[in-house]
Amino acid sequence: MSKECQNSQPAAPCYGKRQETPHGVTTSFGLSDHFADMLGNCLSYAEDARKAGRPIVGILCEFTPRELILAAGGVPVCLCGGSLDMIAPAEEVLPANLCPLIKSTFGYHLTRSNPFLEMADLLVAETTCDGKKKMYELMAESRTMHVLELPQKSDDPDALAHWRAELAKLRDLLQDRYSVRIDDGRLREAIRTTNRYRALRRRLAELMAADRPPLTGRQLLDFKSNIWCMESDMTAYENALPGLDLVAQENNKCKYTRTGATNPVRVLLTGVPVLHGAQKVVDIIESSGGLVVCMENCTGLKPLLQDVDETIADPLDALAEKYFSLPCSVMTPNDRRMESLRRLTEQYRPDCVIDLAWQGCLTYDVESARVKTLAQRELHLPFLRISTDYSPNDAARIALRVEALFETARDRQGDARP
Ligand code: SF4
Ligand code: SF4
Repeated sequence: MSKECQNSQPAAPCYGKRQETPHGVTTSFGLSDHFADMLGNCLSYAEDARKAGRPIVGILCEFTPRELILAAGGVPVCLCGGSLDMIAPAEEVLPANLCPLIKSTFGYHLTRSNPFLEMADLLVAETTCDGKKKMYELMAESRTMHVLELPQKSDDPDALAHWRAELAKLRDLLQDRYSVRIDDGRLREAIRTTNRYRALRRRLAELMAADRPPLTGRQLLDFKSNIWCMESDMTAYENALPGLDLVAQENNKCKYTRTGATNPVRVLLTGVPVLHGAQKVVDIIESSGGLVVCMENCTGLKPLLQDVDETIADPLDALAEKYFSLPCSVMTPNDRRMESLRRLTEQYRPDCVIDLAWQGCLTYDVESARVKTLAQRELHLPFLRISTDYSPNDAARIALRVEALFETARDRQGDARP
């Protein structure tokens, strides 16, 4: 069977033949243009919001419910650092063998070079990994910070109640600080907004389940903002999704074999968040013949898979349940991550699994052994663990390992041929 698209009149170019029209419209249906200046868009939005009297509230983890901040009239902004340039300043204070995400975030704090951090009236943090916790103490010396205590025994019957109490304390703090009453109505409205946002990003991610997805993993990673729920982003998603759905459907009509040598190897990427500026592993995968069809981490599907249940009578209960279920490696045991990986494998049909751990991230690094066992013994997929930092120095070495993984994946595809 030919590896080329044989569909006589495809509505849009197939994967690998992405083109621009004379009007500059690509197969991303405007999303590339819309997110080209993501940080600039977010900055304008945050500045306008502040002028309108809305406080900017910095968040540093997906366990922090944005809904409470939105219901208080605030703008939650993710402040996690992805910049290599911030590592050296941070290492003046922090140990060098700490995770680069923590160091980069702290480097922005020291150099006062993150405009969102500088305009934040409050930071909401959480007790997740030890490095973050101790870094927050240093940030709190000069910034207003509230730390949520996250219980970490995922199956402990008392843990959810404790987490709900922590969310209630945050609600009370926001009410007092911003002289606003966060009643159930306001909270439900915020929940409806974030659920709408999650649903749109989920639909975009689900396009990657197609045999020939209309986007690359890097595009999908780039098509989001550091501030959730901006109306302009949601409108851009709504405008682009019908066209992208059509491209995915048309591409699937192509006479096409997934086992051809030129076809990309479908990758499920799991592990640590891949922040703006720190996308090197995704780029290496996709320039080595792979396609990241599923990103299970906190900058991908992890925070999007479960909505906040709008049918639960007490919206704070609903928030507590949703956020306590987040399958982060700081939880013990973290069986929910394994369940999520099983479901995502079924849905996205990867050819292999890559588990990324930032150097110094003990929880993800240790948990990698469980992911490896799951991938190899249960899902029967080739597996690669990558431990790296934000520096480009090891890019060639990582590329070699990724290429070897892809060879194994292609050999297995060949073996599976009738
Ligand atoms: S990986 Fe865990 S600690 Fe990091 S942002 Fe996600 S939930 Fe928070
Ligand atoms: S990547 Fe790991 S070490 Fe770094 S902040 Fe997240 S959980 Fe902590």
